[in-house]
Amino acid sequence: MKSLEEQIVELKKKRNAVILAHNYVRSDVQDVADFVGDSLELSIKAKNAGAPVIVFCGVSFMAETAKILSPASTVLHPVPSAGCPMADMAPDEAVRQYRREHPDAVIIAYVNSTAAVKAEVDICCTSANAEKVVRSIPADKHILFVPDQNLGANVSRMTGRKMELWPGFCPTHNRIMPEDAKKIREAHPNAIMLVHPECTPSVVDVADHALSTGGMLKFVRESDAKQFIIGTECGILHRMRKDNPDKEFISLQPIPLCPNMKKLSLESIVDSLENMQYEIQLDAALMDRARGPIERMLAI
Ligand code: SF4
Repeated sequence: MKSLEEQIVELKKKRNAVILAHNYVRSDVQDVADFVGDSLELSIKAKNAGAPVIVFCGVSFMAETAKILSPASTVLHPVPSAGCPMADMAPDEAVRQYRREHPDAVIIAYVNSTAAVKAEVDICCTSANAEKVVRSIPADKHILFVPDQNLGANVSRMTGRKMELWPGFCPTHNRIMPEDAKKIREAHPNAIMLVHPECTPSVVDVADHALSTGGMLKFVRESDAKQFIIGTECGILHRMRKDNPDKEFISLQPIPLCPNMKKLSLESIVDSLENMQYEIQLDAALMDRARGPIERMLAI
């Protein structure tokens, strides 16, 4: 009986597929992926993959972004119910309504939004490039930032730019309390604390740096420090420990965990490749409209 990993290697070859995985998925899924990264890195990878089949191990908006950037590829999302509650907090009809009422505003959408919302906005951003994107907007423009109020507030503080914030949030990061962050800092006074900018500004205030997951990986790789407290979804710890065996990584308590990211499993990848399921299908005109804001972001 072949192991799930062996079956995936065989099926990948048979289907001529690549597996892309987000830093938050389970460690066994990360280990079978051809590429593991954050939203920005995965968007670029999807665009350049040129593979006939992409199996996307992340939540649904990420698989949609891969399809938008690589429309000629068959993009498979092994678990369609793995969605993002934050993306769902900004329904496309509500964003359209805002656009109708504020025709002169610039709408920035965090990539954690549905394809239908991306199709309505001016430019996208990720947590890795949000600061750059906000700085690129002319000073006289009113900005609406969708859907993450925490990322929006943190970027607003970094840039000094006032923005209107959509009342959305990531339940996994929003749950992190400043008191818990302070407690773990006190217990490990020599550790450097990194948190994700989807955390509230009061949690960011406790940390040394607020970075995207890709930014965190780069920071720990280049740092001389030996101990880090990590304030983001726990899946990232697998890669940090694997890439930096001489360093210690401590998670916040309670451990931040995204139940949707954890739905992706080796079994679901085998099923996906065997049955070519579940294919991301988006309307061509909608994809064309959503591609503009993403490519504007990638050009920055
Ligand atoms: S960690 Fe938060 S933002 Fe990321 S997929 Fe899960 S709920 Fe959405």
